[in-house]
Amino acid sequence: MAEEEKLPSPLIEKAKLFAHDHIVTQAETWELDRAMAVTTLRKAVAAGFGGLLVAKKFNGSGASFTDTARVLETIAAGDLGFAFSLVVHNNLAASLSKDEAQRARYLDKMLSGEEIGAFCLTEPEVGTDAAAIKTRARRNGNGWILNGAKAWVTNAVAADIFCVYAQTDDAGGAAGIASFLVPRGTPGLTIEPAYMLLGAHAMGTSGIVLKDVHVSDDVLFLPPGRGFKGAMAGIDLARVLLSAMCCGILGRALDEALGYAAGREAFGQSILAFQGLQWQLAEVATDLEAARLLTYRAAALLDEGSSGTIAAAHAKKFSTRAAMGGVAACMQAMGAEGLRTKRPLSRHLAAAKVAEYLDGTTDVQNIVIARSLVRGQSR
Ligand SMILES: Cc1cc2nc3c(=O)[nH]c(=O)nc-3n(C[C@H](O)[C@H](O)[C@H](O)COP(=O)(O)OP(=O)(O)OC[C@H]3O[C@@H](n4cnc5c(N)ncnc54)[C@H](O)[C@@H]3O)c2cc1C
Repeated sequence: MAEEEKLPSPLIEKAKLFAHDHIVTQAETWELDRAMAVTTLRKAVAAGFGGLLVAKKFNGSGASFTDTARVLETIAAGDLGFAFSLVVHNNLAASLSKDEAQRARYLDKMLSGEEIGAFCLTEPEVGTDAAAIKTRARRNGNGWILNGAKAWVTNAVAADIFCVYAQTDDAGGAAGIASFLVPRGTPGLTIEPAYMLLGAHAMGTSGIVLKDVHVSDDVLFLPPGRGFKGAMAGIDLARVLLSAMCCGILGRALDEALGYAAGREAFGQSILAFQGLQWQLAEVATDLEAARLLTYRAAALLDEGSSGTIAAAHAKKFSTRAAMGGVAACMQAMGAEGLRTKRPLSRHLAAAKVAEYLDGTTDVQNIVIARSLVRGQSR
């Protein structure tokens, strides 16, 4: 039984309906056209899915982390790339809502879908070791001049506000990193064409280049000393949400394989009657159950205000791995039919691979987990 079916809630019901009406019907086209799903993204935001983590008093949904994860599980079952695109926008809206000046400037437009956000930390030469970013912000009178390049920017193709992390200190290091809210169209800001990838094109990923971008001081969002901490602040939640999204694609793949196998005959019987195939799918079901338990335990810890760092790392590592192996197993159970693009499995398999890089690779999750194991031994 899907997690969202256990605990019906209006928000989840609404997400299911949105996914059914607007995502499932278009996801194949987004992938085949290698196009960002920007019109549907704005529609999802306008429908109330852009401020899931924004407090109700600021016109957001004020959803718990658990409910947010359930919404994203549901939406990712339609398309993980689209769900991730929505998460990036939600995260920026939630951070801006905590700052009075930025809230007044951006929040209404971000909650209506008029403006879409992007998060720009990774660079062509710097990924995992994010504190080593090279994009520079130099003081210029009352403002700043930004120079550098960002890579792998989700939503870049259509985003209106780019939250750019840049180094302000010649000596480098995390303490010198600040973030700036650079609007699309700012002179010196170039958006590169969308990357052509294995999959997940709905998220409109590309690079951006900043060449002598002059910005005023009110574009400074998080000052030096707070920028890097701000970038890392939501990382546990981001991992839990990605884990939920992987549960979404794995659940969808399992349903698809079961439905197909029940109707397909070989050697005079339904292929679902073969014990080998049943067990193959039973393995997927166990992994899905475990992935959901890890995901929603981590979400519950975050909702309680406990540290969910280790739980989120376990969940993200396990769910991405379960999705990679499980979606492939479901495709195998469907024979060659599983390869067709009209079925969601090849799109979900590509998305599972992409998920292994987002919000910290599996190696990074192992660093977090191993660190806690080693700490436990040295007490
Ligand atoms: C589709 C997509 C969208 C993305 N969207 C965004 C976005 O919106 N904003 C953003 O800022 N970034 C985004 N990213 C970037 C993503 O966060 C990075 O890909 C990720 O942080 C890894 O960085 P990298 O790809 O440069 O790998 P690298 O850092 O070059 O690492 C290469 C390999 O080395 C391993 N490795 C690195 N360090 C260690 C270590 N200490 N121990 C063991 N192994 C290690 C890694 O796990 C990896 O397998 C996106 C990525 C993708 C694929």
